[in-house]
Amino acid sequence: RDGAYAPALVIGTGYGAAVTALRLAEAGVRTLMLETGQLWTRPGRDGKVFCGMLTPDRRSTWFRRRTAAPMASFLWLDVVNRPVEPYAGILDRVDFGSMAVYAGRGVGGGSLVNGGMAVTPRRSYFREVLPRVDAEEMYRRYFPRARAGLRVNGVDRGWFEGTEWYRYSRVAREEAGRAGHGTVFLDNIYDFRYMRREAAGKAPKSALAGELIYGNNHGRMSLDRTYLAAALGTGRVTVAALHRAVAIRPHAGGYVVTVERSDASGRPLGTKEIACRQLFLGGGSLGTTELLLRARETGTLPRLGREIGEGWGPNGNVMTARANLPHHPTGCHQSTVPVLGIDAWDDPRHPVFAEVTPRAGGHRDLDQPLPGDHPQPRARHVHLRPGHGPDGAALGPRAERARGPLGAGVLRPDEPGQRHRLPLRPLRPRTPGVRRRLHLPPARRLRPRPGHRRLRAGEGYRNLYVTDGALVPGSLGVNPFVTITALAERNVERVLRQDVLTG
Ligand code: FAD
Repeated sequence: RDGAYAPALVIGTGYGAAVTALRLAEAGVRTLMLETGQLWTRPGRDGKVFCGMLTPDRRSTWFRRRTAAPMASFLWLDVVNRPVEPYAGILDRVDFGSMAVYAGRGVGGGSLVNGGMAVTPRRSYFREVLPRVDAEEMYRRYFPRARAGLRVNGVDRGWFEGTEWYRYSRVAREEAGRAGHGTVFLDNIYDFRYMRREAAGKAPKSALAGELIYGNNHGRMSLDRTYLAAALGTGRVTVAALHRAVAIRPHAGGYVVTVERSDASGRPLGTKEIACRQLFLGGGSLGTTELLLRARETGTLPRLGREIGEGWGPNGNVMTARANLPHHPTGCHQSTVPVLGIDAWDDPRHPVFAEVTPRAGGHRDLDQPLPGDHPQPRARHVHLRPGHGPDGAALGPRAERARGPLGAGVLRPDEPGQRHRLPLRPLRPRTPGVRRRLHLPPARRLRPRPGHRRLRAGEGYRNLYVTDGALVPGSLGVNPFVTITALAERNVERVLRQDVLTG
């Protein structure tokens, strides 16, 4: 066992974590970040850091034998996925029986793999979802700060109207208009000036060459090029990749985190214990919730609130597709970066905000994916499930270890909560045996959680903070990362003022 100390320790390198590390470092605090995935800087044999969506290799997927792309089927046939070697690839899909969760793995978290759509929620809905957060202050101060830090930009409207690369969006706009719905332009973190150079043949193609969910070799302003680059630039931040935090316990007014190291093929390289004064959890909705649940249920942080694990569920994004008629083709040249949304948010019966996204591969003219954000069912409770993961066993011991000590399916959503309003398949019913073995409390009624910035002293744990998507209680009605970033900006400012800089 190796040991180390960092004044501030941040688990994860996604949005919440990156904001936190940058602001801590700017305030003079030495900060260590732990990331279970790789640092994506080294080119593979093809000279590229990331593989494309149409030719995925082991870089694409987190420890699976076959890629697991979203929306991979056409007419129920799996035409997109390919066999791959198990490896610490960039996109993970964690399966929970009737529900699967996608997550980015690598320094930059979800920013490496997501669609980049940078949408600020409606103020009225934000107030509803996070009633204890001062919406006025968020929209005046932290949303603009987040957008600037993320380098959010928009497509040039004139170019959009003429380019073959967005024909699919213009077709969807026409069809939406026929159905009585308006559309809005969506900002993105992909650099649209770069995209125009791609289209003009003046720069290597990335968004225009089918790159997105397995990383963009050019053009994407992911966190490693924005917040994390700035954090590292202070000289006070260190990032440890392929370091997975597995346990937390209190120690001398701070915490000790147990960390498992491995190489990119999943070979274990040993265990470390890292002590810190302030601990920030930024492992994403799954990673952070898992660490907290495990700490509470294994007794290392027994006074953590009972509400942890309650109300956990999807972020509201539902994938669906529109069948297209051959006389109205969407085009074979499709930019992977979505720029248009169908705004039916005010529809009294079926409020929805649907993004117009391209088809990743295959028969592009015939159907068109339209992921939409709705209010969604949420679990009443998620709980630990020891011993195995749903697909881990097939991967062999090395990959199994890389997935984590409890396997892939560590968190399991329980039955849907009271807000189930959509005709969706219900989540799998709970397994009473598992619940009893772990002595978990009975599920409570679903209750939205406020946007707490820390696990309060009243609960017994000072200097322990949640800083990521785990703070967001369910659907925001739009894609979440701008809100996660803005909340992290708000929260770290308060933590610095109230806890860190006052000693
Ligand atoms: P994340 O970005 O998930 O980062 C968490 C990081 O912590 C990961 O790198 C993870 O590997 C690491 N980690 C987890 N556990 C541990 C541990 N125990 N030890 C060490 N490291 C750990 N949102 C939008 O707003 N717009 C979009 O267009 C959009 N498209 C998406 C498309 C896809 C395919 C996916 C998967 C997501 C998309 N999202 C989108 C969602 C968005 O990416 C997430 O909401 C966002 O990344 C969450 O940020 P976060 O800070 O909570 O954590």
